[in-house]
Amino acid sequence: MQVVKPVEKQAEKQAVSSSNGNGKAKKEKEDSSDTTAQGSLAKVIPQAKTVRNLVFVTSEVAPWSKTGGLGDVLGSLPIALAARGHRVMVVTPRYSDYAEPTYSGTTININGNEVGMYHYAHKGVDWVFVDHPCYPRPGGIYADEHGVYGDNQFRYQLLCLAAMEAPLQLPLGEKGLYGQDCVFIANDWHAALVPVYLAAKYRPYGVYTNARSVMAIHNLRHQGVFPPGTFPSLGLPDGWYQAMEYQYPPHLRQGAYEEEGRSVNTLKAGITVADRLVTVSPGYAEEIRTWLGGWGMEGMIDARGPVLNGIVNGIDDEDWNPAVDKHLPVKYDISSFKAGKAACKKALQEELGLPVNADIPLIAFIGRLDYQKGADIVLQAAPWMMSQGVQLVCLGTGTTDLENGLRWLEAAYRDQARGWVGFNVAMSHKITAAADILLMPSRFEPCGLNQLYAMAYGAVPVAHATGGLRDTVLDFNPESQTGTGWTFSSCDASGLMHATGLALATLRDYPNDFEGIQRRGMQRDSSWNGAAEQYEQIFEWAIMDQPYA
Ligand code: ADP
Repeated sequence: MQVVKPVEKQAEKQAVSSSNGNGKAKKEKEDSSDTTAQGSLAKVIPQAKTVRNLVFVTSEVAPWSKTGGLGDVLGSLPIALAARGHRVMVVTPRYSDYAEPTYSGTTININGNEVGMYHYAHKGVDWVFVDHPCYPRPGGIYADEHGVYGDNQFRYQLLCLAAMEAPLQLPLGEKGLYGQDCVFIANDWHAALVPVYLAAKYRPYGVYTNARSVMAIHNLRHQGVFPPGTFPSLGLPDGWYQAMEYQYPPHLRQGAYEEEGRSVNTLKAGITVADRLVTVSPGYAEEIRTWLGGWGMEGMIDARGPVLNGIVNGIDDEDWNPAVDKHLPVKYDISSFKAGKAACKKALQEELGLPVNADIPLIAFIGRLDYQKGADIVLQAAPWMMSQGVQLVCLGTGTTDLENGLRWLEAAYRDQARGWVGFNVAMSHKITAAADILLMPSRFEPCGLNQLYAMAYGAVPVAHATGGLRDTVLDFNPESQTGTGWTFSSCDASGLMHATGLALATLRDYPNDFEGIQRRGMQRDSSWNGAAEQYEQIFEWAIMDQPYA
């Protein structure tokens, strides 16, 4: 155990370091403007009772790589934990030639593959980027227009192995190596081999015996499923095949007949072997133990119920804060939100070529266009919404049919609707600030960030009562004047229309009530500090118990 130190002492001065460098530049870059975890906003942050060495392993991290909430969470939770005194490393692929990280001087050989370790010390966190020719791709980070990359299993296996070697081989800052006493936090299937390798390749040889692994599930639907014949490429002892195998029930089988639905399922292995499991809301932690959200693995997950917890994500209060948001034409806070939102609405209406009118309710949808997020439900309900005289603005990318659906919406209702097909961070901020109501008809939602952003920006969420949405959007009660939005339980167009109808009626006929809902949303504590404290409890429990495997 280490003694808690003031945050200032945790700021790592990055030394010019070199261990087994291969002759490339050895200078490490440091963000001299801001090396403390608190960032530019000076705040008093409670300190952890026990500080730990934490190693996050992730396929995405904002602002460098992001396709959804995973990137957002990994871009801010580590900072919150560092601010509480922990030594925190985040290991992620170097998908492109990012501006900030520089070569650390350390190259690690993994099964004959040379991986260069790049480093950037920022906000108290060691951001470590794994460099290998398999990561940069002309398309997206996981896939291009031809589908997912055929070597993703290799790419993320390499990430896991590099992340496990980093505490042992990569000296960082004045403290040097992280060493063996650390907690690995493996995020989603891309990092799910970390608990497996810890148990199969390190602990049996007396390495990392005090280390623990936490499997963080941000979305159970994506599992990293590969043919059983790929098992030998993972470099695991034969006896570990059963840990990796998942046999699909007959109605879900794909692939060769002789495989009988068998697969090497990366996330299943992580869930089976990790010391603890955590997911991004208590509601989702319950759902994945049932057929409602378990994707067939509910029995296995339920068996690990005693070590499964749910912690609602926080939001980055510098990135998603209307008082300092660099994307907004006018910044505002709770004391000025009516005027601020009106100005943002006017600017968005002008930018999108919609009629400029403060009295027209502006309804928004932002998200991936796929089955999960329910954009099809929004499109089904759109004709009814148009009949209510609202403006509807949708932003998203995803499947071709839904992208075309957004184009149809805009073409069919030129004066009332806009369908922006694309991934545009600035636009997502501007829409959230301008909107009166934000729709989230997700069929399932592990946590959901957009409803949290909406509440912080004074936009009222209308959401399907599932997973993290159920935990965070509290139904408006006109009697007690409580609640922060509306939820609906029948996840279809009629459910969405009913809840949206209530929101519109309140906005038009009871504006004071609507304002109260906005205020309560803006006052909701969505800071990462509370979530970070709950994560610390998970780490303590992990360390308290013997290793699970
Ligand atoms: P998920 O991770 O399942 O996609 P979340 O609600 O947890 O969903 O997080 C989604 C994140 O991605 C949010 O930050 C959201 O604003 C952002 N996002 C989704 N689609 C877009 C888009 N088309 N343009 C910009 N940001 C987007």
